[in-house]
Amino acid sequence: PTPDRAEIMARLQDAQIKFLRLQFTDILGTTKNVEVPRSQFEKALSGDVTFDGSAVEGFTRVEESDMLLRPDLSTFLIYPPFSREEGERGAVARLICDVTLPDGTPFEGDPRLVLKRQIARAQAAGYEMFVGTEPEFFLFERTPAGLGSTVTHDKAGYFDLAPIDKGERIRREIANKLVEMGFEIEASHHEVAPGQHEIDFRYAPALETADRIATFKFVVKRVALEYGLLASFLPKPLQGVSGSGMHCHLSLFKGGQNAFADESGEYGLSTIAENFIAGLLDHAEGMAAITNPLVNSYKRLVPGFEAPVNIAWSTSNRSALVRIPAKRGNSTRAELRMPDPSCNPYLALATMLAAGLDGMERGLEPPPAIARNIFKMTVREKRHHRVKELPTDLREALEELGKDEVLRRALGEHVMDHFMAAKRAEWREYSAAVHAWELERYLDLI
Ligand code: GLN
Ligand code: MG
Ligand code: MG
Ligand code: MG
Repeated sequence: PTPDRAEIMARLQDAQIKFLRLQFTDILGTTKNVEVPRSQFEKALSGDVTFDGSAVEGFTRVEESDMLLRPDLSTFLIYPPFSREEGERGAVARLICDVTLPDGTPFEGDPRLVLKRQIARAQAAGYEMFVGTEPEFFLFERTPAGLGSTVTHDKAGYFDLAPIDKGERIRREIANKLVEMGFEIEASHHEVAPGQHEIDFRYAPALETADRIATFKFVVKRVALEYGLLASFLPKPLQGVSGSGMHCHLSLFKGGQNAFADESGEYGLSTIAENFIAGLLDHAEGMAAITNPLVNSYKRLVPGFEAPVNIAWSTSNRSALVRIPAKRGNSTRAELRMPDPSCNPYLALATMLAAGLDGMERGLEPPPAIARNIFKMTVREKRHHRVKELPTDLREALEELGKDEVLRRALGEHVMDHFMAAKRAEWREYSAAVHAWELERYLDLI
């Protein structure tokens, strides 16, 4: 149950909290904090703390730069100390906030609002979306000066056991901290590439999962820093080895029952599940700009590294964009494999839900499920099976997003316009950069 203001005040007092962090996320997915001291706690809990919105990326709205932080009391959390100094300085607590204009109107540029709107849309039809994620990341060495590098310190591989190295130990520390903060960790293991790790936490309603992804990234980075390492969620930091994805397992529930399950359906899936999957596939190209928002994201989405390239679904193999894991009953779900952990979790889950709901509303049927390894199919076979490809770079993804009216409506004009402008500028900057690859390939030759 959500604690009320008085209960939170009591807990802040009991734990002798000196600082409260009011947390929100900008359009590009960066977590922001406004930290207030004890004297401001009452004001913070009543949602009366203001901040200058014009200083936040994508929030600019010259006429109304004063914005209010309205805490969602269900997100109250006391951070465990991440270092001895922190322990001595006293604990810090946080609340995740919605952003409003001074008159209390929800702010259109708040990604959490965007997700809440889609949740409300699903709810109006009687559904609730649950999401479980599998975020992957790298742990890299820092230089003696504390700067980041792409040097990994371990030689272990997928699910390797002994010998326990520094990376493994730190991953365990990260998992411990997350458990202390109320995360239910379902799996934590080394991934395929050197220095690459994955920590999976339990599925939850979409908003809770989005909040948790934001918290998760902060904790992973914070603990790694404590041990002198850099944790990075960059999708493809190292060429020639696996990149980092963030697979999302999606399911809809209605009246406590998994609405994707139907024993009598083909593959044990309901019509709702098929429509939802069809919606995901139909909007995948534009959605990619949100779920894979960096120039670098598209260097992960290439053949050979268990990342999807083709827009298809499958009940059996992992080369597809959407995979249906074997479990049925209440565990029936669709695993969307393209997202990477650099995405804004609120916008990403909002577009997934919007795409799925669109499939349901239009009664879309998915193309036949693919049973074979799609990477081994010829171009003709792919055409025959109606298998399209994901965008190959950010520019193409942005173009697709720009054309997708369903996703535009889901994001709203404000978020859409600011996101597009920021990302187009990012693409232009990248295009004008001279890369090491070009010099290596052409300098001598031409
Ligand atoms: N790292 C792979 C990706 O980029 C996923 C590997 C896995 O979890 N099987 O999506
Ligand atoms: Mg996994
Ligand atoms: Mg994995
Ligand atoms: Mg997976």
